[in-house]
Amino acid sequence: MSQPLPPHPLSVPQSAAQAIFGKGVKDHRLDLDRHLNEAKIFHGHICGGIVIGVRMALLGLDLLGIREPKGPEGKDLLVFVEIDRCATDAITSVTGCRPGRRSMKLKDYGRMAATFLRISTGEAWRISTLDRPDPAESPESVLARLRTISDRDLLKAIPVKVALDPGDLPGRPIRAVACTRCEEMILDARDVAGPDGPMCRPCASGTAYYEILDRAEA
Ligand SMILES: [Zn+2]
Ligand SMILES: [Zn+2]
Repeated sequence: MSQPLPPHPLSVPQSAAQAIFGKGVKDHRLDLDRHLNEAKIFHGHICGGIVIGVRMALLGLDLLGIREPKGPEGKDLLVFVEIDRCATDAITSVTGCRPGRRSMKLKDYGRMAATFLRISTGEAWRISTLDRPDPAESPESVLARLRTISDRDLLKAIPVKVALDPGDLPGRPIRAVACTRCEEMILDARDVAGPDGPMCRPCASGTAYYEILDRAEA
């Protein structure tokens, strides 16, 4: 199951890195402008985050050797994104991965980074950006620079291991139970043990992102 990982693409000479990036498959970077256009339509505008996100996704696919992420081999792809901003839309546009298909997980760390994982082998690459925005640079200059800069200068890719839970995977829910307090259904083994049986996490912890308002007085 565990295959030896290829050498770190950004720690080897560029000529060798080229071979690793492509692994003998189609070089996605040749399609950069097409993907940028599609991401622009999906996102509503073109911006630095879109360019970086598209390039992250193309590099991630290359490293995993996935050519057609929107075809059948895309079922083997899982993406973890670490920011809920433009780059995430770009990654969705290129890969087709999205939360509603359980193929994209949002870890809201506020970092422009994403991990691309091949489910069947566990091979995973975390890609972050080396770009540091300069407020004095014009938007046009930013876009032109981000589009043409080399992968080596724009992105950092490291092999990682991701602890995957069966409840994280796409497909039918592995578990569905009702919360013993709020009585709402909890899917995908997200329940925790309570004194009277399974509970949803907000009920178990007593904390939620919302506060229930008393409508009786309204
Ligand atoms: Zn944007
Ligand atoms: Zn509950």
